[in-house]
Amino acid sequence: MSRIIHRSLRSTPPVAASAEGIYITDQSGKRYLDACGGAAVSCLGHRHPDVIAAMHAQIDRLAYTHTSFFTSEVSEELADHLVAHAPAGLDQVYFVSGGSEAVEAALKLARQYFVEIGQPQRTRFVARRQSYHGNTLGALAVGGNEWRRQQFAPLLMDVGRVSPVYEYRDRREGESQDGYTARLIAELEAEFQRLGPQNVIAFVAETVVGATAGAVPPTPGYFRGVRELCDRHGILLIADEVMSGMGRTGTLHAVEQEGVVPDLMTIAKGLGGGYQPIGAVLASGRIVEAIRQGSGLFQHGHTYIGHPTAAAAALAVQKVIQRDGLLAQVRTRGEQLRGALLRRLGEHPCVGDIRGRGLFMGVELVKDRDSKAPFDAADKVNQKIKQQAMANGLLVYPMGGTIDGRRGDHVLLAPPFIVSEADIEDIADRLGSAIELCL
Ligand code: PLP
Repeated sequence: MSRIIHRSLRSTPPVAASAEGIYITDQSGKRYLDACGGAAVSCLGHRHPDVIAAMHAQIDRLAYTHTSFFTSEVSEELADHLVAHAPAGLDQVYFVSGGSEAVEAALKLARQYFVEIGQPQRTRFVARRQSYHGNTLGALAVGGNEWRRQQFAPLLMDVGRVSPVYEYRDRREGESQDGYTARLIAELEAEFQRLGPQNVIAFVAETVVGATAGAVPPTPGYFRGVRELCDRHGILLIADEVMSGMGRTGTLHAVEQEGVVPDLMTIAKGLGGGYQPIGAVLASGRIVEAIRQGSGLFQHGHTYIGHPTAAAAALAVQKVIQRDGLLAQVRTRGEQLRGALLRRLGEHPCVGDIRGRGLFMGVELVKDRDSKAPFDAADKVNQKIKQQAMANGLLVYPMGGTIDGRRGDHVLLAPPFIVSEADIEDIADRLGSAIELCL
């Protein structure tokens, strides 16, 4: 029995022995096509020579230094690169080691901002039911995945809740898309009013929902409506792009497609592409300036923030994405993936919805296509698909919908940006046969 506390305490996963490009090989020699990049992480695939070279060079020079003593050239360069490619106004960067840390830092930056500008009564966050923002206590509190929250609920701060955007299940018969969007914005306004808008710090939302729903994009105009409402009440907008950001949807940041600029944006996963653990908060200069003019100190910090080796890996990943025109490739391959999934699975009686943006696609599995009835949790459909896909040499990210009761099983696909057209067909084919064997 392994000494590691694995995700399941009853089984030990296969041992990954090596990886190359979009494939991971286990100790037995079995090869898996990584169609989800782990958890939407490996955007360049494995063993990219430029990233490895940049990391080697950095380790050789300066592997680590603590930010209470020094900054480093490489972390400064990475911050400059991120700001140069961020939506206008997001011109400050706070580095962390991953997604949950990024969310924690964003929540605290937002709170401290209001304390420093003389609005300490703002203590409430509002977030959505169908959301995942991380597993640390602050991030878990804003997240809306009841299954993950349940046993820790007594430890979590009380967060205002509104509905997610989820057209497939929630847009009413005969309701227009604009009407549905307006209904969601009205619900958010009602929640702000219930809490007293002057008491709200921020609205937190994933731009494209990932781990709880399988790549559900917002409706057109949803984020513009959210932005207007937040501005009206002086409430900050925090976009969580830990999963959907850094090129995954075909633009570097998913919000670019929404025509809004959040006040704070969290990024991680694809930032370092899995070569090193790294995340960041991109912050509006206005927020940071207020703190600079006030106490002059963001009261937060971890041992590994601004880690030079992690920064070197992320900088190399981001430069490769830019040099090789990979955002355009994500858009092209994304449409090919959508087409391949529709051809292979579009008519399957248990496939309810195929959706997503760029190389971030979700397949929703249902017991009955017409009624959209979900499978029972006990059916463990998403786990069965995952296991069968692995048997077929394919890695996909499975999820069971767990908000307000059971709302379906999903499979998330987030392959590396370097996939070829043939790889896309291969992914659709292996997933199709896994679904056909299980359902
Ligand atoms: N936010 C979102 C949107 C995520 O999808 C995740 C992880 O899946 C996180 C935050 C937490 O990131 P991490 O697992 O790196 O702590």
